[in-house]
Amino acid sequence: MPVKLAVIKESRPGENRVAIVPEVAAKLATTGVDVVVQAGAAAGARFADEEFVEAGATVVPDAASALKGADFVAHVQPLTLDEVALLPEGVSVMSFLQPVASTDVVQALAAKGATVYSLDLLPRISRAQSMDALSSQATVSGYRAGLSAAEHLAKFFPMFMTAAGTVPPAKVLVMGAGVAGLQAIATARRLGAVVRAYDVRAAAKEEVQSLGAKFVELDLETQDGAGGYAKEQSAEYLAKQQELLGAEVAASDVVITTAQIPGRKAPVLVTEAMVHGMSEGAVIIDMAADSGGNCELSKPGEDVRVGGVTVVGLTNPPSSMPTHASFLYARNIANFLGLVVKDGELTPDFDDEIVVGTCVVRAGQVVHAPTAEALGLSVPAPAAPAAPVAPAAPVAPAAPEPAPEANDAPEAGADTEQGES
Ligand code: NAD
Repeated sequence: MPVKLAVIKESRPGENRVAIVPEVAAKLATTGVDVVVQAGAAAGARFADEEFVEAGATVVPDAASALKGADFVAHVQPLTLDEVALLPEGVSVMSFLQPVASTDVVQALAAKGATVYSLDLLPRISRAQSMDALSSQATVSGYRAGLSAAEHLAKFFPMFMTAAGTVPPAKVLVMGAGVAGLQAIATARRLGAVVRAYDVRAAAKEEVQSLGAKFVELDLETQDGAGGYAKEQSAEYLAKQQELLGAEVAASDVVITTAQIPGRKAPVLVTEAMVHGMSEGAVIIDMAADSGGNCELSKPGEDVRVGGVTVVGLTNPPSSMPTHASFLYARNIANFLGLVVKDGELTPDFDDEIVVGTCVVRAGQVVHAPTAEALGLSVPAPAAPAAPVAPAAPVAPAAPEPAPEANDAPEAGADTEQGES
């Protein structure tokens, strides 16, 4: 009996992605997984129902029919309580869940005896890279942030030498050089801007430079935390950072902020005073707008005008590039299924670091300690420590093609520090 994988339309506002795309459905069919899709589920991501049928999937009229008898449900956003009510007992569910912030949904899923996996929790180890949906979606976000900056700026990104005169390249500052920040750097460089970037992690310097951008050095200690992430910084540290970055921000046409601390409110990197210090027409793209904002003045989903400066609060950027965001997400899900489906049977190995690390609820029992604590349940004993595994090396986006007009032949006064590595 093949595993029945159900895909329903995302119902959370503003979500255009879909968890499985036709190409991935066809591949899954060869591995003992039959995909059943709600009609129109992928319309927002620009895939037609017919494409699923051609891929060997079954298209059914509504969510209830898709979920009936499902073994596994793949979704992007957390299911809503109404959707959980339609689930069969004992089903497995995978999505982004942010379980500590979604305790009502976790509780409802547990009451269904479900096994629930959250892609936010996937361990970031080499073996899990092909399933790393945080990274795949951050790649889309960084690209979108670069494009959004270029769209909002009333200037060219590249340097132009024309018969009418020479136009200098735009100066872009990227703050936070994780997966999304590196992609924003690569995108801004491809468009010809002169890019500088800053991060609190020591490893970021080399990654920034490998993309041909200049790393901004500050007289501050690095803030490397566990698992390759930044640790939470003190208010004093952030105040010092703001002070030291003030001149960099003021000199930039564009500031793209992507700084995050897992499970915490995003740190404030750009204060109101710093915004007032920017020049007429400058643009700030705040990619952390959904998690509190890196800029004090950003509002999620809004373009805020402050004097001559536009502050763009990007929300759910992958949803605005839903075709490829869904394609990458679906590949992540399929790679996870490759780990838990054997010979057409769902047989997760709960001794596997990836399975146990991602699992929030196992057959109705909340096993993720922070979520259990948030629900006031007894906190499960931690799993036996697995053999230590080195965190995977980050995958920096390919260095963009050099933009000769911006970087090799700058006009007098243009930034000449690009290309250092
Ligand atoms: P993230 O989204 O949590 O944060 C984005 C960036 O913000 C990080 O680079 C962080 O250092 C930076 N930041 C935090 N506070 C800051 C501040 N005050 N000023 C400037 N920058 C600040 O991070 P992410 O993109 O998910 O990745 C973080 C780390 O995880 C990186 O080391 C990355 O290479 C690593 N990673 C590993 C894997 C893997 O092993 N499979 C996959 C993806 C990412």
